Amino acid sequence: MATPMVGREWHLTARPHGWPTPADFALREAEIPPPGAEQVLVRNLYLSVDPYMRRRMDAAESYVPPFQLDQPMDGGAIGVVVESNSDNRAVGDHVLHMLGWREYAVLDARDTAPVDAGAAPLSAYLGALGTTGLTAYAGLLRVAAVKEGDVVFVSGAAGAVGSQVGQLAKLLGASRVIGSAGSDEKVALLREVYGFDFAFNYRNGPVVDQLRRAAPDGIDVYFDNVGAEHLEAAISVLTVHGRAVLCGMISQYNDAEPSSAPRNLVVAINKRLRLEGMLARDHADLRDQFVERVSGWIRAGTLKYRETILDGIERVPDAFIDMLRGNNTGKMLVRLQHLS
Ligand code: NAP
Repeated sequence: MATPMVGREWHLTARPHGWPTPADFALREAEIPPPGAEQVLVRNLYLSVDPYMRRRMDAAESYVPPFQLDQPMDGGAIGVVVESNSDNRAVGDHVLHMLGWREYAVLDARDTAPVDAGAAPLSAYLGALGTTGLTAYAGLLRVAAVKEGDVVFVSGAAGAVGSQVGQLAKLLGASRVIGSAGSDEKVALLREVYGFDFAFNYRNGPVVDQLRRAAPDGIDVYFDNVGAEHLEAAISVLTVHGRAVLCGMISQYNDAEPSSAPRNLVVAINKRLRLEGMLARDHADLRDQFVERVSGWIRAGTLKYRETILDGIERVPDAFIDMLRGNNTGKMLVRLQHLS
């Protein structure tokens, strides 16, 4: 009998109250079973850490089931097939799949999607050409139905979704794009690299005052990544028939008590606002179109993206907590050392 393969995987060992800490996670060794019929063994190369994972650490049901305590965690990952029992995947293929937070994954070949390592850096398939990019694309195109001349405001603008929203809005015809972020360095990046018309640091004063200065005639579209004070400010500054894409509310994910903001929802009636929640997974049909258009813009240099990458399986919880704290610019990822 061949010696069983062993790999390391992260387990959630305690449900965080408020902010997660490294003590809530444990890196454990596990035996890797040989792949069964129509399965593949994948060696992970890049792991994604994402805000929605924080909600999965609570026991409450969300649109994705909670992580189970003392069980392997999961999430987006890019890896290379090292063993295959499927005619549809060959050894050496690079694939996107959902068994992250671990070094090796055994899964059905049909639960992997091939990615082209020659067309873009592998890491991009977890960010600019992955779900965060699709979220920006579908949110603007389909949910906000952004049109020529719109004034668009996006929060979390230096992050993975937000930086793409700002640039895509411009490419899709917006006349003015405004972004907010949590540091002066990020604000400079928005203006100087991503081409935002106006950007502000939300820590420098009330969001509503800074937003009014940026958009004296109001905003037509608000892309919400943050919630609470940002959403309240946007409701105040949206024009009649304005649209808000409710994509994420990261400012509330670690709150023990629900936020009281927005306190001005009644204004949505007077202004006939449309506030619409979205999930990227409802827009999978746009993926091919999105990858084709966005990879073209990236190649042409009209759309730029940044990544913040930590090295080593040991760093996954650090990367996750750093991302929640805003220590990332663009997509936060972990690269595993055995890259090939
Ligand atoms: P990200 O923006 O790359 O990283 C998270 C950022 O949130 C941090 O860099 C930080 O930037 C900001 N942040 C943290 N706490 C904040 C606070 N209290 N107030 C304002 N900003 C805060 O993450 P992402 O993956 O692109 O996700 C962005 C949002 O989109 C999240 O809300 C996420 O849940 C949502 N999302 C939704 C979908 C969907 O299908 N609906 C899909 C993907 C993502 P600063 O330094 O600027 O504070």
